[in-house]
Amino acid sequence: MPLFDFQCRACGREFEALVRPGHGPACPACSSQDLEQKPSTFAVSSSERRSAIARKTTEKAAQKGAQENASRAAAEARHRNEDH
Ligand SMILES: [Zn+2]
Repeated sequence: MPLFDFQCRACGREFEALVRPGHGPACPACSSQDLEQKPSTFAVSSSERRSAIARKTTEKAAQKGAQENASRAAAEARHRNEDH
């Protein structure tokens, strides 16, 4: 039986539910049936995984760049102190 991830539009609760034909799932918190179906965690495509890895790599590069900016700023501050 297919298991899907849902997010309740009424209260924001995320939950998993089995979907049976003719029987829609309801939010366990507020019983709303106004739900957004999310892609199943069991069916994450390899391209989505790749883009997730790419995002991580970009974050790391951004952190490295920030560190380099910080050390450059510190070097400039030292330089200014030497001038005066
Ligand atoms: Zn709800």
